[in-house]
Amino acid sequence: METTHPGRQKRKASGILFTLLLIFSVYFATSSKVCSQAGQSPDATTKTMTQGMEEEKRIETILSGMTLGEKVAMLYGKGLFVSEGIPRLGIREIHYTDGPFGIREELEFSSWPPLKLTTDSATFLPAGSALAATWNPGLAREYGRVLGEEAVTRGKDVLLGPAVNITRSPLNGRTYEYLSEDPWLNSRLVVEYVRGVQDCGVAACVKHYALNNQETNRGSVDVLADERTVREIYLPPFRAAIVEAGAWSVMAAYNKFRGYWCAENDYLLNRVLRDEWGFRGMVISDWGGTHSTVASALNGLDVEMGSSARRTYFGQPLLDSVKAGIVPESVIDDKVRRILRVRMLTEKKTAPETGGLVATPAHMETALKIASEAVVLLKNDSGLLPLSALEVKKIAVIGDNATMKHATGGFGAGVKTRYEISPLEGLENRIGGRASITFSRGWAPGYLPSAGRGALRRTNDTPDAGLLAEAVAAARDADVVLFFAGTNREFETEGTDRTSLDLPFGQNEVLKAVTAANPSTIVILVSGSPFDISTIMQSAPSILWSGFNGSEGGNAIADVILGNVNPSGKLPFTFPAALNDSPAHALDAFPGDRTVTYKEGILVGYRWFDTRNIEPLLCFGHGLSYSSFTYSRMKTDKKAYGSDEVIKLSLRVRNTGSIKGAETVQVYVSDRNPGMDKAARELKAFRKIMIPAGKSVKASISINVSDLACWDEKTNGWITEPGEYLIAAGSSSRDLRSAATITIR
Ligand code: BGC
Repeated sequence: METTHPGRQKRKASGILFTLLLIFSVYFATSSKVCSQAGQSPDATTKTMTQGMEEEKRIETILSGMTLGEKVAMLYGKGLFVSEGIPRLGIREIHYTDGPFGIREELEFSSWPPLKLTTDSATFLPAGSALAATWNPGLAREYGRVLGEEAVTRGKDVLLGPAVNITRSPLNGRTYEYLSEDPWLNSRLVVEYVRGVQDCGVAACVKHYALNNQETNRGSVDVLADERTVREIYLPPFRAAIVEAGAWSVMAAYNKFRGYWCAENDYLLNRVLRDEWGFRGMVISDWGGTHSTVASALNGLDVEMGSSARRTYFGQPLLDSVKAGIVPESVIDDKVRRILRVRMLTEKKTAPETGGLVATPAHMETALKIASEAVVLLKNDSGLLPLSALEVKKIAVIGDNATMKHATGGFGAGVKTRYEISPLEGLENRIGGRASITFSRGWAPGYLPSAGRGALRRTNDTPDAGLLAEAVAAARDADVVLFFAGTNREFETEGTDRTSLDLPFGQNEVLKAVTAANPSTIVILVSGSPFDISTIMQSAPSILWSGFNGSEGGNAIADVILGNVNPSGKLPFTFPAALNDSPAHALDAFPGDRTVTYKEGILVGYRWFDTRNIEPLLCFGHGLSYSSFTYSRMKTDKKAYGSDEVIKLSLRVRNTGSIKGAETVQVYVSDRNPGMDKAARELKAFRKIMIPAGKSVKASISINVSDLACWDEKTNGWITEPGEYLIAAGSSSRDLRSAATITIR
């Protein structure tokens, strides 16, 4: 016998009333349901989810003519990526597709093997952490648009992305798939991504809701975090996707939260998502992430996905539970309404002209633009970069990641790309015959026999003597070395977390030998997450970071190396000097066992390093340019503000370099005299601006005072503490260059 949550009885009683209210609320958007939290204006609140009266009436008419069997048939995946429509009424089934950075290839109807078609390749967009490194919401919109158009062409209704979980530990196997360690940065990107997808009439499915911040025991671990931490750190990207962008669907995560699976979590699905945020779309489970019939049905799951067709919780068992009077039919009706809303919104696809729009030159151009802005210049002490192809005659390209491709891997995040340019190919494309390029592998991924997967497989970290000798000889013979370090999609993957920050496969040893042979070595770290790169930092004068950077990633890195593109990426996460410096590890709170307690609370990422005065290897927001920028004259429009006002600030940023370049002005806010524990500073705004060489530009940036609010556990609501706040703008979280003080009344 299944147990249900405390809220169940109340929900049952209010079922009919709730249904009536739903119909009514159609005309009043949903703003009344949305608490005015720190954050974003509720105007846009799920507006796109609000059907016209005609459509809502149509839904009621359809519903009234349906049998119970037809209704229940819509509530589970009849195929791996398909849920039932209403064939008798001509209502089509819903087709889902992974994933967050490219439309997945076609698989068998009920199982995972690919169909091996020749017509299902797609654009591989830069993976999540690379997109986040652009700090460019405008590009996130274009990113979503590419996904939306390709989904339309492939006949998909729901895109299983964006994946927006916060980077709590650098070891999380899906860090490359997620965005960043900061809720504000995630939120700004997610809103535009969702809009881009839904502009095409495809439903974005925001995942994995919620607190799914590790892969270890992801299917069973119970996450415990205090309310303030949940509200301030982990929920904001989801809230922004729902309340600001009006996302049409949400995927419940695999893990438990406070004792209940996310797919049957009354708090997450009913109280927060629906009652507070006014969500009117559908909640689907992660694949195989449903664990019950009655509890899931009553606590907010609409569609069970990925369960074996022979053993669903929402098929026959749900039908039986309704017939037995355990689950009211009104609960089923509510689910069908939600699905039908998505069905109708996705039927109005606004991009029919996209017939055939897959991996087009225009989409690849977008992929290139994003990839170029995603590359981060970590260090350029020697000024080796940008490289002049005219001045260097011989370039030695070394390292497995010069030729490695990163489109596939990681289950749902794999993309069968139309093509992917490797860095070596990109360099050959861009340099042409102007310099000679040699390639030697230097290091190669190697695994020792063991049962594990992904990073849990034991790696062979002893350099191969032959490869090493060849690399050293090539380095000695070259004017400059481009050393491609890092990892790949087999090592960083869904399903496993890494066990350390170490770079695998003996590459540090190879790098040391190479830099000893030729100090003019530029390192390009290709990875989706932070690593211990202290050896690289010590041995190489110039270093770039590239995430898993999409179909055009190789051209993008070549453009940055050669100075065709002035780098403007900024790190979306902290690179700790040692694993135990990072919060969850310092407190021995990762990955837990049956439960994991988020002991660090709100001090996630740079919030921890800055508040505890711990020097990271590279800080959040760090990223250099071939230009340099000075900041001056930060001003605010007023000295004192009320809690519902907007702080309008301006400052001048000058490009003191000799080429045009983009700077991301990052604005961090600190409470001077907090009445409760607070982080030393928090990102509250940012703006990326292109500045011509030698010119200065006025940056105008607004911050809602309500965005400075904290969650107060006593009142269970948001409060903005009065007092003095320091607003500081700069080039990274630790390079703040112009500041002003304001008062909140
Ligand atoms: C992942 C989801 C993905 C789903 C379908 C799950 O393993 O967690 O992100 O969308 O599979 O492939």
